[in-house]
Amino acid sequence: MSAPRLDLAELDVNELEAVLAERGYERFHARQVYRWIYKRGITDPDRMTDVSRQLRQQLHEAFALSTPRVVSDELSIDGTRKFVLELGDGRRIESVFIPDTPSMTFCISTQVGCAMSCGFCLTGKMGLVRNLTAGEIAGQVRVLAAATGLLDHPFNIVLMGMGEPLHNYDHTMKALRMLHSEHGLAVSPRRVTLSTVGIVPALERLGREPLMPNLAISLHATTDEQRTALVPPNRKYPLAAILDACRRFPLKNRSRITFEYVMLDEVNDSPDDARRLVRLLSGIKAKVNLIPLNPAPGIPFDRPSDERVNRFAQILADRHITVSVRKSRGRDIRAACGQLIVEGGTKKSAAQQMAMLIR
Ligand code: SAH
Repeated sequence: MSAPRLDLAELDVNELEAVLAERGYERFHARQVYRWIYKRGITDPDRMTDVSRQLRQQLHEAFALSTPRVVSDELSIDGTRKFVLELGDGRRIESVFIPDTPSMTFCISTQVGCAMSCGFCLTGKMGLVRNLTAGEIAGQVRVLAAATGLLDHPFNIVLMGMGEPLHNYDHTMKALRMLHSEHGLAVSPRRVTLSTVGIVPALERLGREPLMPNLAISLHATTDEQRTALVPPNRKYPLAAILDACRRFPLKNRSRITFEYVMLDEVNDSPDDARRLVRLLSGIKAKVNLIPLNPAPGIPFDRPSDERVNRFAQILADRHITVSVRKSRGRDIRAACGQLIVEGGTKKSAAQQMAMLIR
């Protein structure tokens, strides 16, 4: 069998330049190819019309160019679109397009499944199947931007799909570099938000990145006991360590760290919780995003009433903390936060999924 062909989708523009230089091509040739792939969403070398015939031939013969395949594209009544994408090995992931918030936003996955096992999240129930490659992470953006007609328009990226981005650090950061290139989609890091449960050494590393995205921390609780129960990695990286890393995190002038807080009825949504949250965040340039739980079969929590959510929000606002309540989008198509779950290759029936969830 011949050696596996090098996958162009895994290369950033510098690597593509180097690989084509070995074959005698100039830098501008690599940039041309990169532009076709990213700016125009074209992956068939035959359609790269300004590329020489000889290079097109080489692209066919010597390289692969993998792109996640759209298996389904569902539209919610609120305009949200959920894409199920199939990867080269048949595994499936979900990516979500959330329009008009007022920006256009792509919610992208970084892993197939997730190892964090948060008690209220369906993806967590899947366990970790595997990391996504940089090309698969960036590939979701290529596919969604093409499918939504946004290749030439500004959009935001939130790394809030399936997976824990800091648990797949190198591939995630490489994907951001690939998307940032001026020869590609030129996505500014200010338009990217990375959401994490707070893996402290990786947070420290993130603070030193030249292309630093906005940071969101999935906090969800105000005592270690409760947080460990809801977000198991808290055992290793407890609240004090995470908040300390946040205090030291090098924020640009006016930016702030977002703290996400999933609200679980009668669990973490009391006025005392709100007051503890205020104390925890003191000294941090913070804003809080409250996310009333999106309930799902197999998730042993309820969504609090609007009244409870508003009361909690008011306590934060009274203490001068900027607070927003996340409107859940796409719940009718199970595209909302924590509702992303698919099984690699084999399509499970609803009944099988239920069985898996309540196991
Ligand atoms: N692993 C990262 C990235 C996933 S982001 C992280 O945890 O931050 C997914 C966001 O949706 C997180 O803030 C998560 O806590 C939230 N979420 C998960 N399950 C949810 C549910 N059932 N209802 C509402 N939000 C949920």
